[in-house]
Formats: sequence, C-alpha cells, structure tokens
Amino acid sequence: MREVKTAEITRVVAELCLRANRELPRGLYKALREAAEKEVSPIGREALRRLVENAELAAEEGLPVCQDTGMVVVFVELGQEVHLVGGSLAAAVDEGIRQGYRRGYLRASVVRDPLLRKNTGDNTPGVIHLNLVPGNRIRVIVAPKGFGSENMGGVTMLTPAQGAAGVIDFVVDTVRRAGANPCPPVIVGIGLGGTMEKAALLAKEALLRPIGAPNPAPPLAALEREILARLNDLGIGPQGLGGRYTAVAVHLLAYPTHIAGLPVAVNISCHACRYAEQVI
Ligand code: SF4
Repeated sequence: MREVKTAEITRVVAELCLRANRELPRGLYKALREAAEKEVSPIGREALRRLVENAELAAEEGLPVCQDTGMVVVFVELGQEVHLVGGSLAAAVDEGIRQGYRRGYLRASVVRDPLLRKNTGDNTPGVIHLNLVPGNRIRVIVAPKGFGSENMGGVTMLTPAQGAAGVIDFVVDTVRRAGANPCPPVIVGIGLGGTMEKAALLAKEALLRPIGAPNPAPPLAALEREILARLNDLGIGPQGLGGRYTAVAVHLLAYPTHIAGLPVAVNISCHACRYAEQVI
C-alpha cells in the first residue's frame, strides 16, 4: 500500500487550477491557429486570430484565458493500492480549488444554493468524479467549466429505432439552438449509451480527449466526422459572426446500454476548453 498525504492532492489541485485557467491545451491552441488560417469568412478569421492572440497573452502574462473561470470539475483516478492519509479527498480537492483561485485572482463563480444564489466566495465546492483504478498512482484532471457553454448542453432518451440519424439530429439541433452563446468555435462532447446520467458523464469526459484524436472504433470515428461536417454547415461561425468554424472537434464516447433505449448527451465546450492534469 502506498501512502499519500491529502495535502499533496491539495497542492496539485491548486497548481492545476492555475495552469488550466492560463494555458489552453496544446492541441486546442494548434487547432485554433489552423482554423484562423483556413476560415473562409473574413470576420470569422479575424475573430479566430483574436482568440489565438488572447490565448498567447494569457499564457505569457499568467492571466486567465477567460473572465469566466468556471465551476471546477475534477476527475480523480485513484489507484486501489493508495492509502490516503490526512483527511477526506473531497476536503483536500476543495482546499486546492480555494488556494488556486485565491492565488490566481480567479473569479469565484459558485453559489451555495441553486435558488438562493449566495456566492461561496472561493469557487468551492468543485464537482468531483472519482474512479477506482488498478495500481498505486493518482491521476488528477482539473477542468474548469464556464457556464456560457455548460448551459447549452442537453440529454435525451431516443428510441433504438432512431439510431445514428436520431443522434445526429439531436446533436446538430442542440448546437444550432446554442448559437453564439457558447462562444464558438466549440468542442462538442457526446455521450452515447449507458443510462441517462452515464451518458451525461461520458459527454463531459469526451471533452478531455486530445483535440482531433478520433474515437478508436471506426464507425464511431465516422459518426464524429459526419457530425462535425454537419455542424460546420450551420454557418454560426467563430463567435457567432458567421463562417465555417462553428466547431473544431466532435468527440464521442459510447457505453453499452439497455435493449429498450438509446441515451444521448451533449456537453458543449467553448473555445476555452480548459483542463490540466498531473499524476501523483
Ligand atoms: S463560454 Fe467559454 S469563452 Fe465564453 S464566457 Fe464562458 S468560459 Fe468564457
């Protein structure tokens, strides 16, 4: 059994909060640069250039990529041979968020009660997804999520007969209705199968895949390509100003499901699809 102090998790989460908010993942930065060169709409091209410039300045100056520094989603893959000492995992993660957001002067965007709306003041609590995995390591992924894009997601329970065509229609319609709200170009995470909540979680996890890396199953990779082409025919374009680049990537994750259902979830990320990870 490997012993790990929860203070180490706090330290790592704080660092990852800062890194995720200041530096876009390299693959996403590259995709935005390529889009800025290929976009056919002049105003769309200009918008993409500004997004790239903004990302470069944020990384150079140590400033957040966006003023909405999000609600922090934390994925923890905890090795089964790890013994955590020094307190609870959730408390350690929240303390990391608290320290990271204070140190970086990042906006606190979380309200304690969804109806009473009083800000907690330190961007806690985070949303933690814990997975037990073999081994003696801990993988921590911190993904701050802005709500301009989070608000635009959706879940539906299709019938099996609706098949791939029904999935495409739902995803395209969700992105069409989102319009300029999620600050396009977007990355679209799709969760297919499982139960309602499993599909929603898959859609979120799909956003963490390196940009442009296709689903390993060829039929699902083909579906991703088809959906991306359909989204980029919508004409919403960068920042909703018109153009080809409404989306830079579509990532789909699938899971076995029940004979009677076809759950589909869409989680949209804006161009600031932020996450950072570290293995302890
Ligand atoms: S949707 Fe993204 S880019 Fe737009 S304001 Fe929210 S976090 Fe920022």
